[in-house]
Amino acid sequence: MKTPEDAAAKRAIKPVICYPVETLPTPDMALYEAARAGLQKTDEIVVAPRDASCFRVPQGHFFRITSIEGPQVGDLNLFNANDLSERFYSGKTRALHGTHITMGERMWSNFPTLRPMATVTHDTLGWYGIDEFGGSVHDVIGTRCDPYTHNLLSAAQYHHCCHSNLTRALAAETGLSTHEAEQHIHDVLNVFMCTGFTRDTGQYFMKASPVRPGDYIEFFSEIDLLGCLSACPGGDCSSEHSSDVAACYPLLVETFAPEEGALNAWTPPVINGYDRTHGT
Ligand SMILES: [Zn+2]
Repeated sequence: MKTPEDAAAKRAIKPVICYPVETLPTPDMALYEAARAGLQKTDEIVVAPRDASCFRVPQGHFFRITSIEGPQVGDLNLFNANDLSERFYSGKTRALHGTHITMGERMWSNFPTLRPMATVTHDTLGWYGIDEFGGSVHDVIGTRCDPYTHNLLSAAQYHHCCHSNLTRALAAETGLSTHEAEQHIHDVLNVFMCTGFTRDTGQYFMKASPVRPGDYIEFFSEIDLLGCLSACPGGDCSSEHSSDVAACYPLLVETFAPEEGALNAWTPPVINGYDRTHGT
């Protein structure tokens, strides 16, 4: 491999943002904030450690994921509750909002709808920002811990990776077989997980999550949602995952309804406007 003479000049070119978000439809955070003041709790579930559970949130309601007994990260899948083919699109959410999401940012759905599924309305870990290693919280860069990669790297069988936990929970919720449900499991929002890419090798890294009991991330449901949350076998992901070694804790999911009329000024998201003719 020959290094060209203008290598330094090439490397010195300043980056440009791929997707400037100035034209991205922005959520009306003042409206959501006002609605938050009158929330009534409608339900709660506790996700057991190294397991996953499903929950449903009607359009226009809120849901909150809270650390309760100890530092724990969660792997979140979101579906349109009325159509499992519409689901969270981690890659495009990353392209639009960056590697991690926080208050005011959104979880976008896949093609062809590409619309906001949920908007982050509160994040008690918003103070963390980006640390000196380039790490931050609530990433959309990881995929989910899974038994296939684990088998590839260690030739072992482990059944409580987030991928398998989410598969079991979705199968139980929908009546699909395990293999059918597995096809719907997708790249996650890594709730509370502290991650980044190393500057020297560009590798995906994790470090102990700053989450403490009482910390939560809260979302507004832009559409009818079926959520599926796994309490990762990595616990706070300070050392390893895909094993039963790490200390693991449950996660609480609560759902809330706003007061009657609180969202009268709200406009639900529309499906994407592209005409889908693809030049034919
Ligand atoms: Zn996991």
